[in-house]
Amino acid sequence: MRVGIGFDAHRLVAGLPLALGGVAIPWEKGLAGHSDGDVALHALIDALLGAAGLGDIGEHFPPTEERFRGIASRQLLREVRTRVAAAGFRVEQVDLVIIAEQPRLAPYRAAMRAAIAEDLGLTVEQVGVKATTTDGLGFTGRGEGIAAHAVALIVPR
Ligand code: MG
Repeated sequence: MRVGIGFDAHRLVAGLPLALGGVAIPWEKGLAGHSDGDVALHALIDALLGAAGLGDIGEHFPPTEERFRGIASRQLLREVRTRVAAAGFRVEQVDLVIIAEQPRLAPYRAAMRAAIAEDLGLTVEQVGVKATTTDGLGFTGRGEGIAAHAVALIVPR
């Protein structure tokens, strides 16, 4: 088996749509980024690529490329599943931690697990999504951005 770790953070900007963990969340701010800014899926993608020894998200989906502008990160996640499979692996389990002071994410956790499970061909039991705050500390605590950590376990096909 192989494991990978991923991390990402993006800036929160007023008036942008918020996509997090593959779910559209109604809120006054959204995450800036070349894609839809979904930090949770970006961290997960890096964890999957790392586990497979395939580099990182920037190599696969360069932010300099116009075709990735505004793209749904779920689309990137599904493509990464294909690339991980092509490298000879299938995803066995993933686990995420999302760090955000606001909005409250608990009501969206089940939908995030379902979205990620669908994109990776897993059951929801194989997908962990946790949310935490930093008790007001740092850029996440001040509501300037949202961060995410992810771990992925993959096994030979
Ligand atoms: Mg990112």
